[in-house]
Amino acid sequence: MPLRDSIVIDCPHCATRVSAPVKGYVKHTDTDNTIVLACCPSCEEALLGCTQLYRDDHDDWVYDRAERLWPEPSAIDLSPSIPERIRQDIKDAQKCIAHGIWSAAVVLCGRAVERLATEKAPGKTLATGLTELKNQGVIDDKLFQWADALRRERNLGAHATTEEVTKENATDVLAFTIAIFEYVYTLSEKYAEFKVRKAARGDA
Ligand SMILES: [Zn+2]
Repeated sequence: MPLRDSIVIDCPHCATRVSAPVKGYVKHTDTDNTIVLACCPSCEEALLGCTQLYRDDHDDWVYDRAERLWPEPSAIDLSPSIPERIRQDIKDAQKCIAHGIWSAAVVLCGRAVERLATEKAPGKTLATGLTELKNQGVIDDKLFQWADALRRERNLGAHATTEEVTKENATDVLAFTIAIFEYVYTLSEKYAEFKVRKAARGDA
């Protein structure tokens, strides 16, 4: 039984890290993970997190900081097919969202998409690179529109304009960014593997 009865977790409603009273927990027997239900002290919404117990300096069992599982996981698992530096930008954008730094989140998402454009269409600006990706068939028309909207939002975040990046726009931009990379790296790869399996069975 842990001594400390509260847990450190990021509240998505308050967009800040909180120390939330624990309402209940279940220890997973096969791993060291403990699933904890907590209540945000500020907005009083439920938060479900995954954490580990460890012994502190006084040899008491305490909770480590929790990764949120619900609502909306704090760290979305990104496919290892996505290049490391792009995954890092997206993870950093997720951290900015968790702490309410909306403009930095969209700038990081823009950088991730810029890396995609640089990799697939070298020597282009982000705007012309995206058009090139569409022309090459790397992204379809819908994703191109998303990526272009993202690019414009990135410009809002990066430049000294009077218009501000809102929480909703930053969250949408992150969702678009993840969708773009899942499409380009993960889905295309899965489809190629599927075709290979079909061909091996003589179905193709
Ligand atoms: Zn809250």
